[in-house]
Amino acid sequence: MTSPEQKMGPRPTDQRIRDVQDFGEEGGVVPVIDLAATSTFLNPLDMEKTFHGELKGCYLYSRHSNPTVNAFGRKFAALEGTEAALGVASGMAAISCVIDQLVQAGDHIVTQHAIYGGTYALFKNVLPRRGVSVTFVDLGNPAEVEKAIQPGKTKVIYAESLSNPLLRTPDFSGLKALKEKYHLKLVVDGTFAPLMLLPTELGADVVVHSCTKYISGASDMIAGVIASSAEMIASLIDVNSGSVMLGGAVMDARIAHELYLRLDHLPVRIRAHSEAAQFLAERMRESGVKVTYPGLKNHPQRSLIDAQFNTVYGYGGMLTVDCGTSNLAMELASELQKEKFGLYAVSLGFSRTLMSCPAVSTSSEIPEEEQKQIQLSPGLLRLSIGLIGDHEVLWKRFLKSYQKVMPKGQ
Ligand SMILES: *Cc1c(COP(=O)(O)O)cnc(C)c1O
Repeated sequence: MTSPEQKMGPRPTDQRIRDVQDFGEEGGVVPVIDLAATSTFLNPLDMEKTFHGELKGCYLYSRHSNPTVNAFGRKFAALEGTEAALGVASGMAAISCVIDQLVQAGDHIVTQHAIYGGTYALFKNVLPRRGVSVTFVDLGNPAEVEKAIQPGKTKVIYAESLSNPLLRTPDFSGLKALKEKYHLKLVVDGTFAPLMLLPTELGADVVVHSCTKYISGASDMIAGVIASSAEMIASLIDVNSGSVMLGGAVMDARIAHELYLRLDHLPVRIRAHSEAAQFLAERMRESGVKVTYPGLKNHPQRSLIDAQFNTVYGYGGMLTVDCGTSNLAMELASELQKEKFGLYAVSLGFSRTLMSCPAVSTSSEIPEEEQKQIQLSPGLLRLSIGLIGDHEVLWKRFLKSYQKVMPKGQ
């Protein structure tokens, strides 16, 4: 990996992950999967105390807590640099449970114009039903954010560390100052940039991830995680008021075990995704393709990205190519699929390249007018670059398809 300037050097996050050690029974190198749905109390009085929150550390029922899910939570917290973390059923479960816990009827949220489609639909269609209003702004522009804040009513700023699908990063120092001034919580979806950007180092109170993406890496499960203070995580599983405990969107112990093991090679995988995407993005730019990638010198937020990213992991696997129209974007995707460059499928973070057209898929919940306003081109092709294959071979396949599909002079 070369440009822009990369800070090489120690990787404290790798070490934090490595230093978490849980043994299996008889000293196994991997922990066991604890499948029990419920746990025996040898002293019946302890059950009552646990229910009333007077006794900690006892397992009660696996919707509340489970040893394997807890082990995953501890390891993920080490990665994210938070006091605690909680595995949940999906990325959307993580988002909706955190929002549920932090806001109530009458409250207000400020968020990003272009965000993950599911989050957009939740904010636009579901939260108003619960009496919660949402304003969509540019989180890279703190002045615009401050204008949207309604003192006393606004409770949360909700951001994506690297936004879908425009690949923009919020201005964290600006957001941190605002959240302190107005006593807000800053919640950040880190799905597009795990390890590369640690939101709590930059002022976030809560981090959510869809583990379905890079953290799984194999596109073989749906899962999510919430990382935050021990107090916040405890509130989510409170037996009387926790949105995860009572909403029920918990993580299964089998999934927790899978993810626990996969965290060990997440750093290696992220660097491999970054190397492939950096290589392809540079070739694309040199050939006149309208590519957006956080690791390119011409990214509109170059200095902000360099200030906020932990670049020893590179700039990630996500890039976009603007083909002008959705027809051209779909034709290019179809050609790339025939050339075995990638697969036309939503989602990201898979070992293989995945391609989709946000304007007609994951971002289609955003009305056309608003798509125009935020410069979400209908011809955007979003690529999640995989981590296997020869870079030169992949580039040849891309160029061949691109030249075949795109009109001359584009
Ligand atoms: C996929 C995704 C989600 C939702 O995650 P699920 O695991 O599908 O529920 C949330 N945020 C972002 C940025 C995503 O890419």
